[in-house]
Amino acid sequence: MAGPHALSGRCHCGDIAVSMQLSGAAERYSPRACDCDFCRLHGASYLSDPKGQLRFTVQSGAVLNRYRQGAEEADMLLCGRCGVLVGACYEREGERYGVVNAAVLPPLFAAPQPVSPKQLSADEKVARWQQLWFACVMIDGA
Ligand SMILES: [Zn+2]
Repeated sequence: MAGPHALSGRCHCGDIAVSMQLSGAAERYSPRACDCDFCRLHGASYLSDPKGQLRFTVQSGAVLNRYRQGAEEADMLLCGRCGVLVGACYEREGERYGVVNAAVLPPLFAAPQPVSPKQLSADEKVARWQQLWFACVMIDGA
């Protein structure tokens, strides 16, 4: 992706590439460090921009694994080869929302903020994703 606030990254082995377009400068974004067990075990923090765009590109022959989390509604996206958590997505009725794990991107962002969405109900989680996550998410080659 091109543009003034385009960023890209990849998993450790390079099988999964991430590219994104933000609506503002990277240093204005604070990744959200979720305190659920899964995210703590990965040391993940998430970046999203409802006005931006996010694209995951799976290289030919590579595998993007999905692991169901988030009140059994969201899919955590992991490289099938090196195991790196690249992000998460939520899909319903042809719409796809997503976040990227800030760890796969260049370290340009503000300090992570702790968040505790595990206290939310399933409906509250979905409403939060629809409000905060990228609303334009592509997964190519999967
Ligand atoms: Zn990988």
